[in-house]
Amino acid sequence: MTFTNVVTFLKKIAPLVDLTKKEIALLQTPDRILKAELTVNGKKYPAYRVQFNNARGPYKGGIRYHPEVSEDEVKSLAFWMTIKTAVTDLPLGGGKGGVTVDPKRLNKKELEELSRAYVGAFYKNLGPDQDVPAPDVYTTPEIMGWMLDEYEKLVGKKAPAFITGKPLELGGSKVRDIATALGGVYVLEEAVKKIGLKEKKVAIQGFGNAGGTMAELLAEKGYSIVAVSDSKGGIYDAKGLDIQEVIRTKESKGTVIEYAKATKISNEELLECNCNILIPSALSEVITKENAHKIKAKIVLELANGPTTPEADEILSTRKVLVLPDILANAGGVTVSYFEWVQNRKKESWSEQEVKKKLQEKMISAFEQIWKEFSDGNKSFRTAAYVLALKKIIAAERKRNKI
Ligand code: NAD
Repeated sequence: MTFTNVVTFLKKIAPLVDLTKKEIALLQTPDRILKAELTVNGKKYPAYRVQFNNARGPYKGGIRYHPEVSEDEVKSLAFWMTIKTAVTDLPLGGGKGGVTVDPKRLNKKELEELSRAYVGAFYKNLGPDQDVPAPDVYTTPEIMGWMLDEYEKLVGKKAPAFITGKPLELGGSKVRDIATALGGVYVLEEAVKKIGLKEKKVAIQGFGNAGGTMAELLAEKGYSIVAVSDSKGGIYDAKGLDIQEVIRTKESKGTVIEYAKATKISNEELLECNCNILIPSALSEVITKENAHKIKAKIVLELANGPTTPEADEILSTRKVLVLPDILANAGGVTVSYFEWVQNRKKESWSEQEVKKKLQEKMISAFEQIWKEFSDGNKSFRTAAYVLALKKIIAAERKRNKI
């Protein structure tokens, strides 16, 4: 989403939160935009860190490596992080980073140089109490490890809470690898209970870290996964797919469509297939005004970021389809990142069970708060989530006497 759209969106939602003009201006203005040019092997790469809002705690947000990264995009993503940390009640603000680079064109040594250069450029504004980065598109735990090492070298002390999404050996948290999907499972289970959904037939678009893990976790819980897909296409079986076999197929043949015992379908057909729960877990803007009225699911759980266009969202809301928005549904990742930061600061290492229990509590509590706001008034579940988040951010700003 462009930053112009963020501003339009804020103005639209402002009356529901009783925001003054001054408050809207504050919420649409990033605190700081840091820019640098990183040089690796003579080539220059534009790099950004946007610190959007820290009224509720240190800035928090990933670093993205992608050829299309721009200042405008990083600014929008930093705004969404401010909202996301507020939705789940984490004592953190919102930030985001990015480098305009195609990481597939760099060898490992160059990638490490670029990552260390990123820290070198911005480290004075980063840190456990200032701004805590994490992985995002095309950045990995290994990259977080290099960045931590560079930061510690520059500040001359150990500081594991500087960055999250690290390898376990460097202070990463257990469960981080499945946190996004697991958070989604907890939210889904609450929604299923609330609307009394009996039949649990699930279709999942995307079979990567988010979608593939989600399929596995839901299958273990007895949900019937009737359709899954990846970039090559999808597969459907009304009686339910054998997810372990689909995983083996994906691992050995590179795509789910090689799974022999199902009907091949397109990614578009998957969205409209006969299911009760639809989980877009790949691309943005796949549910549009063209297909929203054909969707059969009663619940849409947005594991991907921004899979539903605003027009489609209105259609689904009118049709009483419960859309569990990305800012809640995929917030399990940032929540366990927060747990990693807490463990590092307290010099603790929590067990898998402990992390899962805490994640469940956080996700259920966020869901319940939004459900209350949703039940109280005439607004969609997504709008309720935004209203709640903006209220929390603005309450913190007011307590600081900033407005
Ligand atoms: P990933 O790269 O691991 O997987 C992406 C999947 O989408 C792959 O299976 C790929 O084949 C599939 N895909 C690509 N193009 C497709 C197309 N045209 N149609 C259908 N499928 C297609 O990525 P991921 O980490 O699983 O992220 C997926 C989404 O979830 C993104 O929107 C991401 O922003 C969001 N998300 C992920 C996390 C996380 O922790 N992994 C956290 C928050 C949000």
